[in-house]
Amino acid sequence: MSVVPGSIVCDRVRAQISLRLDGELSQLESRMLESHLARCAECSMYDTRVGAVTAELRAAPLESLEHPIVIRRPRRQVSLARVQIGVAAALAVAVLGAISQIGAPGTEPALVSPDRYATYTQLTREVEQIIADGRAFSQRRGDALPL
Ligand SMILES: [Zn+2]
Repeated sequence: MSVVPGSIVCDRVRAQISLRLDGELSQLESRMLESHLARCAECSMYDTRVGAVTAELRAAPLESLEHPIVIRRPRRQVSLARVQIGVAAALAVAVLGAISQIGAPGTEPALVSPDRYATYTQLTREVEQIIADGRAFSQRRGDALPL
């Protein structure tokens, strides 16, 4: 006696009927399918009807179209803003990396170009602001920031 409800088994069998019509059922699966069809009148009727419809469709002549159907694939576009954010982030990382090589740990080194950023902390703050602005811009646009 089976513990699986009949409807679940019948659903699976009907999916297998479709697979068999496409030649995608193994020999064992075909035997199991035939065994179920011999016991289940509803699935057997389903098999007969689906088989008849499939045979009719496959026997029907192919229709030719008056105009060919052309499906164009959209080109992937990279927005300029996204590229600019990526470049700004890469520059920020490069500058921070270069500065971290110059300064000793625990000290506040003076920068080579003190006209704009007097200290490492000011430059770090500026870089963090650039990255935050880029993230805010990406979130407004719905893009993911490539960081
Ligand atoms: Zn059944």
